Amino acid sequence: MVEVSYINPLSNEGREIIRRYGDLNQLEKENEYLIEEVIHTTNQKISNDDLIPKSYKDLAFKRIQWAIEKKNNKNYSQNEFEYLLNDALCKQDTVVYHVLCQAIAIQFNIGSRETRLFIESQGVLVQERLSKLTPLVRNEIIDEILEEIKTDGAIKWNSLKDIIASKKLKLSELLISDGDIILQQNEFMDEYGSKFTDRSPERMYNILVGDSVKELILSRLIMQKTEEYIKKIKEMSARVEMHPSIVELAEELKDFIPSEISKYNQYYEGSGGVYGSVQAGKLNPEAFPPCIENTVNGVTSGGRNDAIVLLLTSFASYARLYPRIFASDETMKVSDLDPDLNITRNEILPLIFDAADNCTPPLFEDQPQEKVNIISKLGFGMHSDIDINHEGETTWYTPMSCEKIKIHLPQLCKPDGSCKGINNPLSCYGRKKFQLDKKK
Ligand code: SF4
Repeated sequence: MVEVSYINPLSNEGREIIRRYGDLNQLEKENEYLIEEVIHTTNQKISNDDLIPKSYKDLAFKRIQWAIEKKNNKNYSQNEFEYLLNDALCKQDTVVYHVLCQAIAIQFNIGSRETRLFIESQGVLVQERLSKLTPLVRNEIIDEILEEIKTDGAIKWNSLKDIIASKKLKLSELLISDGDIILQQNEFMDEYGSKFTDRSPERMYNILVGDSVKELILSRLIMQKTEEYIKKIKEMSARVEMHPSIVELAEELKDFIPSEISKYNQYYEGSGGVYGSVQAGKLNPEAFPPCIENTVNGVTSGGRNDAIVLLLTSFASYARLYPRIFASDETMKVSDLDPDLNITRNEILPLIFDAADNCTPPLFEDQPQEKVNIISKLGFGMHSDIDINHEGETTWYTPMSCEKIKIHLPQLCKPDGSCKGINNPLSCYGRKKFQLDKKK
């Protein structure tokens, strides 16, 4: 039988594993059992030694690397990470899950791209692990975990309202009675059994509730519980000193995650990665002024829409295509500088959309229409995509001045030395980039 903590590391059993693990100083120590199990996992690729995690800390980095690759790498290869679906590594995985939650809690904000990456990856892992189990074992373990998660005897539909608001689960997919979600067959039979006279209630249960809804809810609940757990650790870390090994891991993750993600970013200078070689003129994030850096990292307070639609859209497009706008009298269209719109489509829009996704809540989740506003600010009218035939229907919005930003988006303007004597983020970027290029 598969351990409950393999699917729910926050279960009582999972917490017991953590209590017993004890010594966090051992995180970096080579672990023979781990290495042996990874090597002997069915379908695991072992041709390259780098693919094998040797310690709990290695496993923590591999889990994050898997999350990034699974999400971004078009050539993602499951057999490099097959051991993540090996239930014999349940204890190791549970420890690593808790260690990562702690490191992420002290290093990143709750709504940050990094925290969301980890929480989402936990949901994906739950679904993938469940899909590998036999139907009988899967049903048993789902029921056991759902029973444990129920705090007051039932799962209230409103405990899933965040998930429903994010459109990851539809209210219409749930069967609700007095605010409680009906998931178990016995609950269904008690509530509706007598109402079916001409057909089998069991069959109706399978049609109306079914395993897939239960699996989906379970994975969402574990994502939600993970987020609550990270929040709790964050609050606690303000009062209690964290273990030095967790602090060290948190510091390393701060560099590791952006560096792994950047392999798949096609819009930054020097990013390389799957999209090939560096091209002159690509944006250099090191030269971004503070207001732009804050926007790209995700706006968590007010002004989210203006920051993305007005500030970043104009900044990114002019910085990439026409940084000399303020020194020139000529009025340009995007296609004058990017005739086939490839730069706009492959570099500028992904940067803006990623920043929108980094916001809390992610911009397009509750306001998908803002995509149209972004397209319109690039001069392509009120449409959902850029199309040369629509160019000119609206005007290419020019970059906001520092004065305007200070009035409308004061929370993003945190001037540093590079802002001295300038009146527009674009000028700040140009000067910084010039200095950085000179150093190279
Ligand atoms: S001074 Fe201007 S460039 Fe610097 S952070 Fe503020 S708005 Fe941005």
